[in-house]
Parts: sequence; structure tokens; C-alpha cells
Amino acid sequence: MVYDIIVIGAGPAGLTSAIYGRRANKKVLVLEAKSYGGQIINTLDIENYPAEEHISGFDFATKLYNQAKNLGAEIVFEKAVEVNDLGKEKEIKTTKNNYKTKTVIIATGSENRKLGLPNENELIGKGISYCATCDGAFYKKKIVAVVGGGNTALEDALYLSNIANKVYLIHRRDKFRAEEKVVELIKEKDNIELLYNSNITKLISNEKLEKIEITSNDGNIKTINIDGLFVAVGRIPENQNFAKLVELDENGYIVANENCHTNIEGIFVAGDNRTKTVRQLVTATSDGANAATSAIKYINDNKNN
Ligand code: NAP
Repeated sequence: MVYDIIVIGAGPAGLTSAIYGRRANKKVLVLEAKSYGGQIINTLDIENYPAEEHISGFDFATKLYNQAKNLGAEIVFEKAVEVNDLGKEKEIKTTKNNYKTKTVIIATGSENRKLGLPNENELIGKGISYCATCDGAFYKKKIVAVVGGGNTALEDALYLSNIANKVYLIHRRDKFRAEEKVVELIKEKDNIELLYNSNITKLISNEKLEKIEITSNDGNIKTINIDGLFVAVGRIPENQNFAKLVELDENGYIVANENCHTNIEGIFVAGDNRTKTVRQLVTATSDGANAATSAIKYINDNKNN
């Protein structure tokens, strides 16, 4: 049996691809290594998805999953470990099976790099966030900290400075990696306090995050009270299993523009693991639609080959 489209990843991008594929009457299989929903499952309240004023990440993902399933997409929980381009057909090896397909949509997303502190995972949604634009609104007039020194951290700090009363920006070196113009904007803000040469060494909580311990590079330790911590220490695209197959940029993202074509015919990419500037729920679902539309066109154009 040869599928028309195999989607790797059952996050918002992958499930949207499955919906579009099924609505075009294509045989669609979705492979998911963990659980459906991707990163959005960790968001308590989504407030920035058009026409959904409030919805939990779990409810959103479940609706999307059911929609794809009800339209006839097969969804199996197997990790894709290898994709081979056999020309007209592609082969996908999972930990359990081998599948054949005319097209592949890689929608494996990206992971937030973690600080690696002991209770970090337990505090996600309880004071720790990896997305200022998703969760910043919960910290109106509160005290927050951002950790990181790249564009994301500095843009997050600027965004949060318009919502929270006070923002600590904690960076492990004395120079930011972010673009100079963003650094200048940060320095103009009265309510952003810069803590250079500093690392967060402890997360202190009582059900919710309450304080962080900061250790400076010269060994000084201090504790500050905060309501929220935004971790922006980079992302890790989950493209490791495709690195030999498709072109990646220097940060490991699959190179593709809005039509979601990779450099290999019949292989498409959708969501946070492709090169782009805005990585949000709305752009992931948008990619899902674009990648599936490209895959459907590819299948229809190659029908008689
Ligand atoms: P990034 O540029 O990789 O920066 C990650 C930051 O986190 C670095 O400052 C790094 O410190 C720090 N860091 C890494 N691991 C850490 C750890 N364990 N503990 C503490 N700090 C740690 O990541 P990003 O800011 O998410 O940006 C990713 C890419 O997207 C970049 O190319 C960026 O320019 C781009 N981007 C562009 C825009 C825009 O154009 N508007 C917006 C956002 C992102 P060091 O500096 O010491 O390595």
C-alpha cells in the first residue's frame, strides 16, 4: 500500500496538513512519536488564535486531532527514524514499520532549549513559560524575568516591559547576541533591569514559581522574587532524522519558503522546524495548509508519470 501523504508529526502543522489532505480525498497517514498536539499542549490558555478568545492548548489540540481523525486520517504513534527518497516513492522507517508514500510532510516542530534545572519541567505553566507572546498577558503589572541574550530574549523583554511592572533580563555573558538596535531599545526602558554575567541556578517554588536564585560569574549569589520566568535560550528544531535528506540552514531548520517545498521533490515541511521568522500557532496551521496544498498539487501533477 502506498499512501498519498505521510505527515511526520501530529502537532498543529501536521494535523492541519492531514485535514487538508483528507479534504482533497488523499490517503493520509500521520506518524507521531510522542502524543498529539505538539508544544501547544503546554499552553494553559490560548488567547491569540483568530476566533478563539480562550481555549486551552489541550482542548485545541484535541479538537484538531478529532477533526483529522473524523475526516479519515490514519494516526499512529510511531517514531519516524529514517526517510528515504526513492524517486517517485518515498520510504519512511519507523521504530515498528516501513511505509511507502508519494509525498512526505515533515512537521516535527522544534523544542525549546531548557535551562536544565531540576524542577523546570514541573513549573511549566506555573510561573515558567517559553513564549512571551503566548503567556505575557498573564503577568500584567507583575514582576517577571527573561533569561537569554539573543533576539528572542530581548524582544520578549521589550514585549513584557509593556505589560509587567518590572522585567529582569538575565544573560550569562556581558554582551548580548541580539541585534544592536534591539539592545538599544532595551537600554531605553526604565523598567528593564539588566543582569549580565549571571546564571539562574535555582528555581524556588511553592506549587508556583516564587523566586529564582542567580549566581554571577564571579560567584555572588542573590535571590529575587518574581511572578514569572520566561526562558528564551534558543530552540532546537527536531530535524535530526532528516539532516542527511533535506537542506538545513545553519541553525538546523529545514530550508523552505511559504510554499513549504524542500530541496527534494515530493518532500515538504510545515511548522516550527522550517526557516521562518514567526513561530506561532497561527503560522503552524497556516504552514499545514500550504504544505498539504503543495503536496496535493505535486501528486496531481505527477499522476500519469
Ligand atoms: P539564540 O540566538 O540562539 O540565543 C540564545 C541565547 O540563549 C544566547 O544569548 C545564549 O547565550 C543563551 N543561552 C543558550 N543556552 C543557555 C543556557 N543554558 N543558559 C543561559 N543562557 C543560554 O536564540 P534565539 O534568541 O531564540 O534566536 C534564534 C534565531 O532566531 C537567531 O538567529 C535569531 O537572530 C533569530 N530571531 C530573529 C528575530 C528577529 O529577527 N526579529 C527574532 C527572534 C529570533 P550566549 O549568547 O552566551 O551563547
